[in-house]
Amino acid sequence: MVNDRKVAVVGCGFVGSSSAFALMQSGLFSEMVLIDVDRNRAEGEALDIAHGVPFASPMKIYAGDYSDVSDAAIIVVTAGAAQKPGETRLDLVNKNVGIFKTIIPQIRESGFSGVLLIVSNPVDVLTYAAIRMSGLPEGKVIGSGTVLDTARLKYMLGEHVDVDPRDVHAYVMGEHGDSEFVAWSSAQVAGVPLSTFCELHGHLNHREAEARIAEDVKNSAYEIIEKKRATYYGIAMSVKRICTAIMRDEGCVLPVSSLMVGEYGLEDLCISLPTVVGRDGVVCRVPVSLDYDEMTQLKDSAEALKAIIDQVDFEA
Ligand code: NAD
Repeated sequence: MVNDRKVAVVGCGFVGSSSAFALMQSGLFSEMVLIDVDRNRAEGEALDIAHGVPFASPMKIYAGDYSDVSDAAIIVVTAGAAQKPGETRLDLVNKNVGIFKTIIPQIRESGFSGVLLIVSNPVDVLTYAAIRMSGLPEGKVIGSGTVLDTARLKYMLGEHVDVDPRDVHAYVMGEHGDSEFVAWSSAQVAGVPLSTFCELHGHLNHREAEARIAEDVKNSAYEIIEKKRATYYGIAMSVKRICTAIMRDEGCVLPVSSLMVGEYGLEDLCISLPTVVGRDGVVCRVPVSLDYDEMTQLKDSAEALKAIIDQVDFEA
């Protein structure tokens, strides 16, 4: 039986511990189990985060193992090797698929039936791997995908047009990585096309600004890793946002990564599209209209991912 107030986090490095810290403050859960191959790390993080509980809501936080996850409503997987300076996310693939072969079968054997949220990179390939290895219904396995990239885009666009980023609607789609793209043709502020809004406020040269912002979004992770070794606060807030959508059955639209079953002609790979997310994970994908260039970029991104998937041995 699923315990609606319980979450598990597998991998307690920069991303796992920051996500656990954000989840502790969210009030969504009353129990959180932290798992790491480095047991001391999990124990230390559990103690440290638990000491913040008196300033948030009552919650049991402890280091555990896979016998503790069977009744969790959500398992967040952040375990894996992190991206090194100069290394692309796709370079990480074989290393992290190997790590998943030690984790996902144990989750499967526990009898877990909640939503599996994959964060480790390359997230699209690992979400696909988790679907193959977990035996869960495909909609219950989602990747954080381009939720973080889209948050970066909204933040930068908010600065550009001087509007609250929550009122700027635009999506990064495709791979969470080098082949991602911005769906500019559907970007808008309160229903007004972004380009029209920009003109009204004296921002011209859209193409230049779009290209610069899209590059800045794509290169954010590289820049942060260069400067401070890892990115974790933005992704922690993304994890909290996705968990909120699931636990509150919000039906909100988030660009998570999920298994394609014919959308835009794509099949048998995980990639990010705006997706309605609710209690059981994926409710449906939103068929945002894409112009010719965007459609080409989506197909190219899917091909890049498929080329990797085809080379990986997913057998546990
Ligand atoms: P990190 O090295 O700080 O932490 C990784 C943790 O995983 C370590 O504590 C390690 O002990 C643990 N681990 C390794 N193998 C394990 C196993 N078999 N079982 C349990 N735990 C295991 O790395 P990080 O900075 O926290 O990044 C973690 C992952 O998140 C990386 O793959 C990184 O690229 C990814 N990431 C994804 C996004 C996103 O938007 N999806 C953003 C940032 C980072």
